Amino acid sequence: METKDAKYYMDREDRFGAHNYHPLPVVLERGEGVFVWDVEGKKYYDFLAAYSAVNQGHCHPKIVNALVEQAGKLALTSRAYYNNVLGEWEEYCTKLFGYDKMLPMNSGAEADETALKLTRKWAYKVKGIPKNEAKIVVCNGNFHGRTITIISMSSDPDAYNDYGPYTPGFVNIAYNDIEALENALKDPNVAGFLVEPIQAEAGVYLPEDGYLKKAADLCKKYNVLFIADEVQTGLARTGKMLACDHEGVRPDILVLGKAISGGLYPVSCVLADDEIMLTIKPGEHGSTYGGNPIAAKVAVTALEVLQEEKLAENATRMGELFRSEMQAVKSEFIQLVRGKGLLNAIVIKPTNGKTAWDVCLALKENGILAKPTHEHIIRFTPPLIITEEQMLDALGRIKKTFEELS
Ligand SMILES: *Cc1c(COP(=O)(O)O)cnc(C)c1O
Repeated sequence: METKDAKYYMDREDRFGAHNYHPLPVVLERGEGVFVWDVEGKKYYDFLAAYSAVNQGHCHPKIVNALVEQAGKLALTSRAYYNNVLGEWEEYCTKLFGYDKMLPMNSGAEADETALKLTRKWAYKVKGIPKNEAKIVVCNGNFHGRTITIISMSSDPDAYNDYGPYTPGFVNIAYNDIEALENALKDPNVAGFLVEPIQAEAGVYLPEDGYLKKAADLCKKYNVLFIADEVQTGLARTGKMLACDHEGVRPDILVLGKAISGGLYPVSCVLADDEIMLTIKPGEHGSTYGGNPIAAKVAVTALEVLQEEKLAENATRMGELFRSEMQAVKSEFIQLVRGKGLLNAIVIKPTNGKTAWDVCLALKENGILAKPTHEHIIRFTPPLIITEEQMLDALGRIKKTFEELS
């Protein structure tokens, strides 16, 4: 049998796959916990963790078991029938997060679309906004997914260029700007404010302390729904179950995805109370795979693992360790280290013609996988199960990389 090296796999993807991604040149074939292995057997710390989908670690045995067991029993019914596990997930999830109802989808983008549809239904049926006049306020720098409607809210030309015409009905304001929000909310046709508690894709931008609380209070004052996209910030990543928990904010609509399956399966959902959720009637929204039995079992199990293994607490401790160690590093490449819990970023100052991408290539050589977001920011978001020993070892490798680059 011919042996296949990394180049073979990369060339094949380039040849037959669309070029809508620019991956790091590493070909992975196995993952366990915080580690992944490439086709040549080299072991890496995964400091991306599939954009925080793999908070519980790669191939978590308990979640794998749940998936395998359910896959052999009943995988998909569609919502044309009831199944005996969807209700278990709905009950578990609504009780855990404190909402009346849950609506299951598959991807984060679909869950955000669902939140937008709910907001518009609520606008017409509850708030009484004139037909087709509802507006939703969003923030510059947002990332909510890739559908046409979602990129219609984007301020990133890479996300929206040449995809027009765009979906109307969105009002963009600056992130972390309470005054801009209050001005926008004064329009009586505004139905919702959609926000990421931390803008992760944009480069881990944290709003000022108190921003979310003030924003949620303003939404209440103007009878506007506060919609939190916690697809990436949620589920223990920032040191609390939800990033909104840091400010005691309860969103009117909560959007979850990514780590709700621990990386095993595409699962997402939206949570809200009856006044909002029951505005959508049978036949008015749905998804063939949304709420399928495998997704339901996987989601319940992934949520259990977060709590049983106290991953929020670990994210807080390991995040503090990461930031304090990296903030002490003297390197002309490091402009800034910021983050919360294990959602962290290092802002790179390109030096000697070397960019964040070059830093990531050098990190890879030292056994650390991380990916730049935009030109000059590298996100460091390992699985939340990372131990102190592993974190110290990884930090040693990251520091060594910056020393070698200088
Ligand atoms: C990843 C992400 C999404 C989109 O999720 P997909 O599953 O890729 O569609 C939406 N919102 C946020 C904040 C995300 O990080």
